[in-house]
Amino acid sequence: MSTPLAVLDARVADCRACPRLVAWREKVATEKRAAFRDQTYWGRPVPGFGPADAALLIVGLAPAAHGANRTGRMFTGDRSGDFLYAALHAVGLANQPTSVSADDGLTLYGTRITAPVHCAPPDNRPTPTERDTCGRWLAAELALLTPTLRAVVVLGGFGWQSLLPVLAANGWPVPRPRPKFGHGASVTLPGATGPLHVFGSYHVSQQNTFTGKLTPPMLEDVLGAAGRAAGLIVG
Ligand code: SF4
Repeated sequence: MSTPLAVLDARVADCRACPRLVAWREKVATEKRAAFRDQTYWGRPVPGFGPADAALLIVGLAPAAHGANRTGRMFTGDRSGDFLYAALHAVGLANQPTSVSADDGLTLYGTRITAPVHCAPPDNRPTPTERDTCGRWLAAELALLTPTLRAVVVLGGFGWQSLLPVLAANGWPVPRPRPKFGHGASVTLPGATGPLHVFGSYHVSQQNTFTGKLTPPMLEDVLGAAGRAAGLIVG
């Protein structure tokens, strides 16, 4: 039987609420990048990936045009994913360091990955309206995860600005003024099922990883702290 989260994921994958993003994701999927011309692109919204009882949630930005929009799985099939999954494996939250296709055997331990915008946007820049429209999916996902969720890692300022209002709308007491995003930023929100620890990290975009703004040890430090806060990593 499908879990409520699996039902939600299926609904996300059928969403067509943002005309500009629907047109873009499908155009990219039709035109393709030369290196992937023999592949069938997913070309639809990319749902979250990971178990329904996750204690740790990782929140990115949006699917990459030739990464997740091609493979149908978050951070799968591009350099950003290579960086993220290598770090997750290094701290013990994934069974393998690579993520190349939706059927490559990757398993996350107590960890789920999602995005505030589920469709690939032009120039990786969703509009505020698209972010707010897709926010209802994030709110629904958070509501289903709340019983087990203990920590969140937010990759980048866009995810941070997107997540905090959704957390507040879902009943978490997010302070005012809102905590500022930064690499290593953290805030703990008291909740009915226990505290929720929210951590910030620079995004795993090539712009950050190729320039050394975000290094593997920097990301592993944040993931390790979040994994310990979530009870997934001991020591
Ligand atoms: S971005 Fe979100 S709300 Fe907009 S079409 Fe994609 S899944 Fe639907």
